Amino acid sequence: MDLETLLQSSAEAHGHLCPGQVIGVRMAILGCRLIGLTDPTSRDQIKKLLVYVEMDRCAADAVAHVTGVKLGRRSLKFMDFGIMAATFVNLQTGRAFRVLSTEEARELASVYAPEIPGKAPQQLKAYKRMPDPVLFRVEEVRVKLRDVDLPGPTRRKAACVRCGQVVRDGREEDGPDGPLCAHCAGRSYFQKIRDVPDPEAEPVREIQDIPELSGAGIR
Ligand SMILES: [Zn+2]
Ligand SMILES: [Zn+2]
Repeated sequence: MDLETLLQSSAEAHGHLCPGQVIGVRMAILGCRLIGLTDPTSRDQIKKLLVYVEMDRCAADAVAHVTGVKLGRRSLKFMDFGIMAATFVNLQTGRAFRVLSTEEARELASVYAPEIPGKAPQQLKAYKRMPDPVLFRVEEVRVKLRDVDLPGPTRRKAACVRCGQVVRDGREEDGPDGPLCAHCAGRSYFQKIRDVPDPEAEPVREIQDIPELSGAGIR
């Protein structure tokens, strides 16, 4: 796993080269090494790896790119914690390490790359040079994996007693009258305006046709 090669392909997949790519790529290299995976995207190793990322920032893309974990394969778990950290789990051995990006590294960028002007370019260069113990803090951890969290076929399905929607893999809640989906249990992230029974009949809307949005600074 060569840093420069991985960085290049990661930046391509992410859309740009940024300090977060360096952190994410190095985080992934270190995390995989700690759990004994030398070539995580290879056929025999890809099934052994599970990664939890704790942020939806640039570095998360790099971690996913280098390790090959994917949301749709259930090998990538997104924990919306806003923390620059990722945990690498070897499913075969059960060993897991959490790698956190340190705040000190940000402050030390000017020490490790004093000749580079500009904050982002300086961080980018410095993050390549910093030794792992400066760039990261590492914890060995235990991750309690439930059957319903693992890759593979759907283990369980339950129909919501209120709306009828099928909920997969044990994500339903216990309601007074039976299982509830997250929305019906009050954990929704949206407010429904109306049902759209025939999507094809809906007109193509321009943003100025939507009064709530046109004046609200969303453009
Ligand atoms: Zn980026
Ligand atoms: Zn429901």
